[in-house]
Amino acid sequence: MNIQENIQRFKNILNNENVTLIAVSKTHPAELVLEAYSEGLKNFGENKVQEMVDKFEQLPKDINWHMIGHLQRNKVKYIASFVHLIHSVDSERLLQEIDKQGQKVGRVINCLLQVHIAREETKFGLSEEELFSLLNNPELQQLKHVHINGLMGMATNTADGELIRQEFRYLKNLFDQIRLDYPLDNISMNELSMGMSSDYTIALEEGSTMVRVGSAIFGNRNYSDQ
Ligand SMILES: *Cc1c(COP(=O)(O)O)cnc(C)c1O
Repeated sequence: MNIQENIQRFKNILNNENVTLIAVSKTHPAELVLEAYSEGLKNFGENKVQEMVDKFEQLPKDINWHMIGHLQRNKVKYIASFVHLIHSVDSERLLQEIDKQGQKVGRVINCLLQVHIAREETKFGLSEEELFSLLNNPELQQLKHVHINGLMGMATNTADGELIRQEFRYLKNLFDQIRLDYPLDNISMNELSMGMSSDYTIALEEGSTMVRVGSAIFGNRNYSDQ
């Protein structure tokens, strides 16, 4: 496995100003992140708070850190001062906690709402009903230290490309609908985070603006670490 060669295959995405490549570095050591950084990558994704904090402390400060994994409310405080974008907001209570911690550190924290689009039961995310109930809650407009920049979703883990495409298309439709119908101060539908190593090509065809790519850049993770 050669990180440099792997990254070369993403040159088109890196040169496309409408799409952000997020290198998912979870489970990989800081040295490998630094190697990818030296190849020009600036956006990295992590799914565990402690691991993200450790890497933030060790690595160059111009890296944009993306929280892509399920986030517990009591851990928001550890990343509030530096996190670039939280992709995995899946409840109002979490959003309120992010707002509270954003206020403490004097930042507006950028967030995506994670929507459950896959067939699997195991994946996190808001149902369509929960998504609109959150957006329609008047309290949302009181939250001055969060900004909702878009949506995130994970497709079913399947070889069925048509099913994956349908799920991404469904998320894109929600994204377009919200962009038209929710002209609130702290909402702007700019980012649609969808696509991983196995399905980012389909995601891009369906309108993704952020792909979260781990194994296609860093190689396989130990299964037990995922
Ligand atoms: C691990 C992870 C990825 C990257 O997965 P790969 O298949 O290694 O590209 C993307 N998104 C989320 C939310 C993840 O947890």
